Amino acid sequence: MSRLAIIGGDAAGMSAASQALRRDPDLDVVAFERTPYTSYSACGIPYWIGKDLSHERGSAPLIVRSPEKHRERGIDVRTRTEVIGIDLDSRRLTVKDLETQTESEEGFDELVIATGAVAKAPPVPGADTVEPSRTVDAAERFHAALERGGDSAVVIGAGYIGLEMAEALVKRGLTVSMLDIADQVMNVALDKDMAEHVLRGARDEGIHVHLSTPLESIEPGVVHAGGRAFPADHVVVATGVRPAVAIAIDAGLEVGELGGLLVDDHQRCRGADGVYAAGDCVESWHRLLERPINVQLGTHANKQGRIAGVNATGGDASFPGVIGTAVSRICSVEIARTGLTEKEVAELTDFDVVAVTAQSTTRAGYFPGTGPIWVKLVAERGTGRLLGGQIVGVEGAAKRADVLAVAIWTGMTVHELEMMDLGYAPPVSPVYDPLLVAASAAVRALDS
Ligand SMILES: Cc1cc2nc3c(=O)[nH]c(=O)nc-3n(C[C@H](O)[C@H](O)[C@H](O)COP(=O)(O)OP(=O)(O)OC[C@H]3O[C@@H](n4cnc5c(N)ncnc54)[C@H](O)[C@@H]3O)c2cc1C
Repeated sequence: MSRLAIIGGDAAGMSAASQALRRDPDLDVVAFERTPYTSYSACGIPYWIGKDLSHERGSAPLIVRSPEKHRERGIDVRTRTEVIGIDLDSRRLTVKDLETQTESEEGFDELVIATGAVAKAPPVPGADTVEPSRTVDAAERFHAALERGGDSAVVIGAGYIGLEMAEALVKRGLTVSMLDIADQVMNVALDKDMAEHVLRGARDEGIHVHLSTPLESIEPGVVHAGGRAFPADHVVVATGVRPAVAIAIDAGLEVGELGGLLVDDHQRCRGADGVYAAGDCVESWHRLLERPINVQLGTHANKQGRIAGVNATGGDASFPGVIGTAVSRICSVEIARTGLTEKEVAELTDFDVVAVTAQSTTRAGYFPGTGPIWVKLVAERGTGRLLGGQIVGVEGAAKRADVLAVAIWTGMTVHELEMMDLGYAPPVSPVYDPLLVAASAAVRALDS
């Protein structure tokens, strides 16, 4: 019987395992996972910390499918087991049982590497003392520390994860300072003008945001940054991640410029027969930039894992690439982006573009619950092709970006978007949807 081994038991790894077993019920599938949990929702961690999710059954709401459930379906899941070496010639893994600290060898015919990403600790004294809440067991430890007491917290890094965690801590009644070296929140995801709306929303909710404030050190109870001392009974470090590829590199697998494993559109690792990789540990093809990028999102991890599972069992599935779509909600502000921001266009491409921002409302102006929405579009001068969209607004704003994602994916122009047949009813939209308003503004800017 052929044996498929999976390294990493979360989104990408268990998608691959499940898909492979569905296609070939006789396949021997073994999955190694360092933590006690499989198929968990890291994305839900901030909401669990903030107690939006019930704690009645501990961290159970974060577990989409437990190791026991996977075993019932026929996957040999080994939790608390770390893969510490890959030998591609002999097709063997060296694995370490983290309970007994014993090492052993496991053979494989096909391999899926789905080791995710690891947090980048900022290069300052004390940063390595903070455990990032990226896995459920780490989140449990952070929650336990919060339960023991303390009334102040410092969140380092004002990206979407930092902001979600800051909101969670405010909800728990802590005084929260948020620090970032950049002069805007969501520096990687949004243009500064759009980020201003997010900053206002975060401050309105009680997060004390300090921008242009470089971190100096982390000590017990205090964080030093920008020449000031911030009280910190608890610290969250959310300053970005890098692909977890150390064992893959040791095995001779190739990584790209951005540090992720190089894979083709079938998730096959370059130069290694029968070896696949998926999720946060790989580089994914960006359809607009026309080059690989490393993007860490659950959406891609699940799809790429499924594709790896299909191809590892003799199928033929391909991943079409990414265009940079992401959504979030910080306090009462919904945020979305897709395609390229104006800043990315300037820094990474030769596109000649116009960028416009239109303010509108999420529902008819007279309808209860309506509120502001800002839509920024980036379109190519000359062709009018839509290259990017950012949306910030109240409830009902963010998922509108999916329309923009489809428009970008299919190569639509803002002229086409302006006349798109989008729905209208007062409780859900003004008669001219905010996307149409923004597209009109873009058309005018292109024509002027
Ligand atoms: C707080 C937070 C919020 C997020 N919110 C969103 C969101 O709203 N939307 C979104 O799309 N994405 C979100 N993400 C990102 C998303 O969770 C990841 O992109 C996704 O989990 C990646 O899946 P993966 O399987 O590639 O990697 P991971 O989920 O990181 O899983 C990799 C697994 O491999 C295990 N592992 C690693 N090395 C070894 C080894 N050598 N041996 C055994 N096991 C190993 C790790 O323990 C881990 O469980 C969020 C992430 C975090 C941390």
